[in-house]
Amino acid sequence: MTQNEQMAELLFPQIHELPSDVEARYPARTLPEGAKVTRFAPSPTGFVHIGGVYQALIDERLAHQSGGVFYLRIEDTDARREVSGAAEALLRTLDVYGIRPDEGVTLDADGNLADRGKYGPYRQSERAEIYQTFAKQLVREGKAYPVFSSPEELEQALAADKKNENKTKDWASTAEETRRTMLENRTITPEQAKQALDAGKSFVLRILSDGDGEKKQKVTDLIKGDLELPVNDEDFILLKSDGIPTYHFAHAVDDHLMGTTHVVRGEEWLPSLPKHLQLFRYLGFRPPKYLHTAQVLRREENGAKKKLSKRDLGAGMADYAALGYPSESVCEYLLTLLNSNYEEWRSANPDAPYTDFPFSIKKMSGSGCLVDFDKLNDISCGVIAKMTAEEVYERLLAWADAYDAPFAEALRADPSRAVALFAIGRGGKKPRKDFGCWKQAKEFVKCFFPAYFTIEEPLTEYDPSDVKEVLERFLAVYDPADDADVWFEKVKQIASSLGYCTDRKAYKADPGAYRGSVADVSAFLRVALTGRRNSPDLHAVMRALGQEETLRRLNGFLAQL
Ligand code: GLU
Repeated sequence: MTQNEQMAELLFPQIHELPSDVEARYPARTLPEGAKVTRFAPSPTGFVHIGGVYQALIDERLAHQSGGVFYLRIEDTDARREVSGAAEALLRTLDVYGIRPDEGVTLDADGNLADRGKYGPYRQSERAEIYQTFAKQLVREGKAYPVFSSPEELEQALAADKKNENKTKDWASTAEETRRTMLENRTITPEQAKQALDAGKSFVLRILSDGDGEKKQKVTDLIKGDLELPVNDEDFILLKSDGIPTYHFAHAVDDHLMGTTHVVRGEEWLPSLPKHLQLFRYLGFRPPKYLHTAQVLRREENGAKKKLSKRDLGAGMADYAALGYPSESVCEYLLTLLNSNYEEWRSANPDAPYTDFPFSIKKMSGSGCLVDFDKLNDISCGVIAKMTAEEVYERLLAWADAYDAPFAEALRADPSRAVALFAIGRGGKKPRKDFGCWKQAKEFVKCFFPAYFTIEEPLTEYDPSDVKEVLERFLAVYDPADDADVWFEKVKQIASSLGYCTDRKAYKADPGAYRGSVADVSAFLRVALTGRRNSPDLHAVMRALGQEETLRRLNGFLAQL
């Protein structure tokens, strides 16, 4: 036995398999030419970030557009950060957005977690032996070595490494420490290791880097293009003292065994890419292609873009659900961020599902995901405008059931009136675009529900007796059976007989000659009926309210004058 082999046996006596045994259980996938295998690999921390959904949508589109496989892996190697139920909640959220993994950790029909597919287990916490099998091989080949420590030393080393692993590289603070560790421990002999083990010490496993940190290497990112990054010369940790891998090691082993062809992940991992490429080389694996997505930004009041913090509105997917943005609006919005030609495609294909859009990596913008509610709202108004009144009712009700019980009750009290209201201005070439989310929909329609009706915009600038005169005249001729033309004729007649101008141009030319215009007359009716200065077509509103409620509102308003 060589020294390295002795070391491998000492460190991993429980591992009896060889990498080739593991490989045999993960045969190459048989997929059509060009098919992409992607994965979404979240840590189950309980917070579903918009940046995650953005990445997952890229994964899903790339795989499904190419006849490939999209799978979900749970990266739960940090038990301290784990939140119970988080994986289920995450999968439910993805499902809402139509992002459904073919394989990996999925939800079964009862909503429970279930591993699906032949490349599992798909939870990293269940893969310890697999990582250790490859770790043992690296030790056998002299490419990794143990660093023993007492529990306190260990805590410190881990904290330093954590800092280095996830964030942009913090060389200044950790380089010194790492270099010292490297020099002191690289030459450890099996005898020394045995002594440490006998003394009850634990070890972390570090890679023995062959890189020259003074040099740069070319790497290719499919979004960012060709880049030059410093070669990795750091003996970073592969296995922590509990035998659980760091992100770096798990990434290399899992994405290799599971056959990932394209890794989509946040750009905070880009500085670690040389580490990963080194690992793939050490392990004899072919690296996947990488797409590093830019961090999520938000726009400040002054127009500048700033990093979105976890506490900002729109960082968590729960915000979109609470505001009531239809999932397809959010997906369309994300697609406009992903491919600059999406909007053009959408106007040429107004009725096609967004999944028909030919998403392309080449057209991806490197500037990443911007949370911009104005834009989202704009898109969403268009999405909702295409829904039928019944669909609007159903979906608004589902939202209200989850977030606004009293409003749900109001909607349920009179479904046909609600549907009639949503039907106003719907259909046709230029449908109304009054609301982009269900919360706005509530604001828009609540005045039509008796429980919510108040005079929000009173007619303070008018003389009450003028208003009274108009409303009384209207009540005298009101006939719920009137069609729109007859109704409008009646309003015009009332207007002109009371000295209000019914010709916009004439009024503009000489406003002093009239008591006001027909717009004032409409405003009186509108405020009496809706409490507001703006509303959909008044005749349609009266129809939807019905005779009884129309009369109740007009008389109620008159009584207050
Ligand atoms: N668990 C990693 C993260 O949440 C995944 C990164 C990756 O996709 O490789 O950042």
